Amino acid sequence: MGYTDCIPRDDRFATKSNFVLGDGGSGQETGTTKSKPNIKADATCANRDGFNVWGWIPMPQSAGTLGVTCSWSEGKYIREADIAMRSDTIKWWDVWNHPTTCSAAYDPISVATHEVGHFLGLEHVTDPSHEELTMYPYTYPCDKRGETCGQGNCDGLMHLYPR
Ligand SMILES: [Zn+2]
Repeated sequence: MGYTDCIPRDDRFATKSNFVLGDGGSGQETGTTKSKPNIKADATCANRDGFNVWGWIPMPQSAGTLGVTCSWSEGKYIREADIAMRSDTIKWWDVWNHPTTCSAAYDPISVATHEVGHFLGLEHVTDPSHEELTMYPYTYPCDKRGETCGQGNCDGLMHLYPR
């Protein structure tokens, strides 16, 4: 079983997000970057830099962590967020080339979907009776259940982003 992430509690809450992708200010999406997520090797958050970055980094000081989201808030608004997927030591399932064959590997789509949930302001659902939900904090090898949001996660997004 791997941990889907590690998020400092103080940094991740916002009742409603006001995201701008890419440059942290103008709302322009800037595409690819050589910047890395501001997330440390122990899966803790570094300081914000004005860019929302999603990337792959080694996390040798955080055994079991598969992905991490760090967000930086001002008041109730998330102003910046980075997502990192683990690039060392664990085996990712090549779901694109081998969608039906898995052996002791983790589903990157499930982990990425979970991290996007945090990016958008969702918290964990920790009750083991809801382990099928994307926002459950643990996943298992070859487990694809987190790829799509369950009702509870969708309800959470609708609460954060009402029409
Ligand atoms: Zn999480």
